[in-house]
Amino acid sequence: MKVNEIMANLEAKHPGEAEYLQAVREVLETIEEEYNKHPEFEAAKIVERIVEPDRIFTFRVTWVDDKGEIQTNLGYRVQFNAALGAYKGGLRFHKAVNVSMLKFLGFEQIFKNSLTNLPLGGAKGGADFDPTGKSDAEIMRFCQAFMYELWRNIGPDQDSPAGDVGVGGREIGYLYGMYKKLAREHSTGALTGKSYGWGGSLMRPEATGFGAIYYVDRMVKQKGDTLKGKKIALSGFGNVAWGAAQKATELGAQVVAISGPDGVCEIKGGMDKAMFDYMLVMRANNHNKVEEMAQQFPDRAVFTPGKKAWSVKCDIACPSAFQNELNEDDAKMLLANGVKYVAEISNMGCQPAAIAAIQKAGVPFGPGKAVNAGGVATSGLEICQNAGHINWTAEEVDKKLFKIMNDIYDLCAEYGKQADGSINYVKGANIAGFMRVAKAMLAQGTI
Ligand code: GLU
Repeated sequence: MKVNEIMANLEAKHPGEAEYLQAVREVLETIEEEYNKHPEFEAAKIVERIVEPDRIFTFRVTWVDDKGEIQTNLGYRVQFNAALGAYKGGLRFHKAVNVSMLKFLGFEQIFKNSLTNLPLGGAKGGADFDPTGKSDAEIMRFCQAFMYELWRNIGPDQDSPAGDVGVGGREIGYLYGMYKKLAREHSTGALTGKSYGWGGSLMRPEATGFGAIYYVDRMVKQKGDTLKGKKIALSGFGNVAWGAAQKATELGAQVVAISGPDGVCEIKGGMDKAMFDYMLVMRANNHNKVEEMAQQFPDRAVFTPGKKAWSVKCDIACPSAFQNELNEDDAKMLLANGVKYVAEISNMGCQPAAIAAIQKAGVPFGPGKAVNAGGVATSGLEICQNAGHINWTAEEVDKKLFKIMNDIYDLCAEYGKQADGSINYVKGANIAGFMRVAKAMLAQGTI
């Protein structure tokens, strides 16, 4: 494999798509050595094929706001690779969404879904719609208009979207309502992240955060260490951070910081149930302000505007909000403050220079596509339940999630084992994820 040649070709075809190119480069550089041991991959041009999405839908979404004004947004669905199964991946509603962002997320999703060992292809979608400050009625009208365009291109055996940044249980409800009306199809896995009682799986809201902490727990144990008493800093206060904060606390760690676009809240003594519950209120009100945590709990949460979670001294740092949210300077600050583990719960949460600095310092680093795979894995379990018209209990789902995350950890540790005995989890996740997809593509011929 000639990484630089492939990247030069890709850059020429996708100029300016920095995030997409960044994601591809990381995968290619880490799988190169293993790939070169398989001349059959080179002969079948697996890499040249896998870096291009199967297809991309771009569509106009027009809706009416509360003032009666007509608004137009752009919607997308990137169906990246279906070698392992029907397309699967979330929908992101955020003002910065563009095709490069969704291509990078769709590309990452291929390998993440592969790691789950479930039959899931990779996809991603969304819109440049900004939920901040929108009313519930506006969210509903936007979701309905979005689905009115997308519905023909999805379905339980075709493509199954789910939530992501800006798309939670409420948005999935509105999207699914419209899908059902148009497709005349019921209780199917055409969308996941549905609420329990109308096709949703118990534990799906918690799954990404819980799964991430199951993975982090293994990273910590690998060092002969324990989560008990560890101080954790999380960015964001969405669904993912909410689940991670609860599971980390249950396992004896203390969540000492959460951040938002407005700044960071340092939490004295760690978060508790009242605070976890309040995260849900903050997510639902669309104000997108972490300062509200300090206003609600003035004696325990101290808000500092403009600062990130990485400014707070911690043992474990987990970016849980957005891509590239932890840069090289942040990594240096964390390292100077004695961070022991870094695990991305957001997709590509750390910039490449930050990862390099963390790894160089010998601090174990967990990549998003492995650490956060519990969300999509539980979506896979939701599809299974829908297909079989059954509901598993929360304990049953959690047990399966726990096993899937431990299996993913074992795969990453096996493929990421270095000569000196340390584990490069980035390499492990990329090679393990890639091998399954590459073998499936090879077996299925040139399509
Ligand atoms: N958006 C989540 C992810 O990045 C969940 C995707 C899904 O459940 O399909 O994996």
